Amino acid sequence: MTADYNALYIGGEWRAPSSSRRIEAYSASTEELLGSVPSGEAADIDAAVAAARAAFDNPQGWSRWEPARRAAVLERFAIELASRSADIVRYVSSQNGMPVRFGKAVEGTVPGVILRYYADLVQRQAEYEVRPSLVAGSTEVRREPIGVVGAIVPWNFPQTLTFFKLAPALAAGCTVVVKPSSETVLDAMVVAEAAAAAQIPPGVLNIVPGSGRTAGAHLVSHPGVDKIAFTGSTEAGRTIAETCGRLLKPVTLELGGKSAAIILDDADLSATLPGLFAVSLMNQGQSCYICTRILAPRSRYGEIVDGITDLVRGLKIGDPLDRSTVIGPVATARQREIIEGYIAKGQAEGGRITTGGGRPAGFDKGWYVEPTVFADVDNDATIAREEIFGPVLAVIPFEDDADALRLANDSDYGLGGTVWTTDLDRGTALARRVQTGSIGVNGYTMDHGAPFGGVKDSGLGRELGPEGLAAYQQYKSIYLPK
Ligand code: NAD
Repeated sequence: MTADYNALYIGGEWRAPSSSRRIEAYSASTEELLGSVPSGEAADIDAAVAAARAAFDNPQGWSRWEPARRAAVLERFAIELASRSADIVRYVSSQNGMPVRFGKAVEGTVPGVILRYYADLVQRQAEYEVRPSLVAGSTEVRREPIGVVGAIVPWNFPQTLTFFKLAPALAAGCTVVVKPSSETVLDAMVVAEAAAAAQIPPGVLNIVPGSGRTAGAHLVSHPGVDKIAFTGSTEAGRTIAETCGRLLKPVTLELGGKSAAIILDDADLSATLPGLFAVSLMNQGQSCYICTRILAPRSRYGEIVDGITDLVRGLKIGDPLDRSTVIGPVATARQREIIEGYIAKGQAEGGRITTGGGRPAGFDKGWYVEPTVFADVDNDATIAREEIFGPVLAVIPFEDDADALRLANDSDYGLGGTVWTTDLDRGTALARRVQTGSIGVNGYTMDHGAPFGGVKDSGLGRELGPEGLAAYQQYKSIYLPK
């Protein structure tokens, strides 16, 4: 039976859409239709922004409530999400291929964790402080919610990336219109059900899926929207930034990546190799921060290539809903085509495939690609420069630490990264010099209490941590006579 929704969540109720167009959701592993939702059009975005605007501007409403009152609603929201997490995780995994073992730990868990984190943080933050003026009297410096937020999210971690925006925005007192990706619409509808059950006041949260770029672009340029929070490709991010620049609208951009895992010559491979899976192939490589460039010292190059090849060859490919699966299908047929194009290009440019390179045997249905390792890759090769967003690794040799640093930084992107070593001080010193927004030593566990984001083509601004709350607040100074 398919899950079919006939209304959009706008103004705290399920409203009939403005058009009969629909978005269909398919299983990445069986290619079967899972369900469908209305496709939000410009008129639906207008209605959602109007509802969010009215909720924000209400003088007795959400934006004016005591933080503790908003925090209580966020707690109810977290509880309602938790009671639906099995459905949410199943929908995410079916739609984008994420193995359910990761889906449960990330998509089913992180939204509640972040809602509670920001609910707590905003209650501990002073709404204002009074400073002695440098000239005369004093100044009340206030933190105020920025207004109506348009949140546009991709399909790879749809829940986590939605709540990276929603949780701080709602905690700050903003109201939000979420535009989910058209590849992951069913889980977004369950979030709307949870919001309704949590009795989030009408208009505070609105969810309008839209196909293609039209709905998102309309949201970005909408005069009723005060801030845009976007996660997605660098290409779309540039277009959005252009519009926001013209409109002088604040924008946070979390974009693509091509991060490096630097394996130093003292690394203990028995510990490094298992760790490399999580940092470079998690979610079939459909993760923005992962390290798809593996930098290996020339002195140990053969040993490292062999180790990575064995690791990748042994990964269990399967149905994403099976708990033993570690590599599922990629999200769409189109995505698989793009990845296969990169694999062909990698070979054409002289890369040597040590494992993978094709479609796995025994999978007649589903958008599966074998996890693939390329050795002898030059850092200038296309597969070392462009984000593939699939399970394709390039192992690149380096001469010494300075060369490793040069290669790591020789990228248009700067989002994640890792350093692998038995000498923590050496690893930390090198990590400090990598041009990136975040980096791990001997692993990469994203800390929701610390800012996350990119440098260079990987984005602008930060999410998470207190800095992620500040992105939804603006300062106002009230000059007082004494
Ligand atoms: P995408 O850019 O195609 O789409 C992302 C979202 O933006 C979708 O909801 C889409 O409908 C919308 N959109 C696309 N063009 C738009 C436009 N011109 N105006 C307004 N909205 C628009 O990205 P995707 O294929 O869904 O996701 C994969 C990309 O996301 C990768 O590049 C990946 O690196 C990036 N990503 C980044 C992070 C991060 O935190 N930096 C996290 C996850 C994914």
